[in-house]
Amino acid sequence: MRRGDKLPVRMSDVTARLDIEVIIGTGAPSRARAMAARVGSRWRVIINAATCPPAARRFQAAHELGHILLARCGAALDPAEAERWCNAFAAALLMPADDVRSHAMWPLDWLTRRFGVTRTAMRLRLVELGCLSAHERAAAVRRRASMIELGAGS
Ligand SMILES: [Zn+2]
Repeated sequence: MRRGDKLPVRMSDVTARLDIEVIIGTGAPSRARAMAARVGSRWRVIINAATCPPAARRFQAAHELGHILLARCGAALDPAEAERWCNAFAAALLMPADDVRSHAMWPLDWLTRRFGVTRTAMRLRLVELGCLSAHERAAAVRRRASMIELGAGS
């Protein structure tokens, strides 16, 4: 992440730069949350509105972008490996490690707004970066402070 880049990462800027169209499909026959498909010479990401909740769409689009980049590179990963790689790619793109580490003490809801991801995605990223225990310690301190403020603890 370069200094001056804004968070949350604007997926529409990223996909526009890569000439990838993202559409929200409403008539998708699949139970998949999203898919990447090549249409002529362009790639398209189709988010399944029926199975992918709005809060998860940015992560899902970033995940599908990972599949497109793998395909463009001709990388031959087995399907499970590709899924793991795409999840790691999406997490790194939307939740840059340095920025997560430097804000790990902040409340989870604040972090989810900063990075534009779900609570689950944020928690997994904190675990992945080894920040969850620091985050939970900070949350416990905040809870204790608010109990003291309410006169419920000492
Ligand atoms: Zn996938």
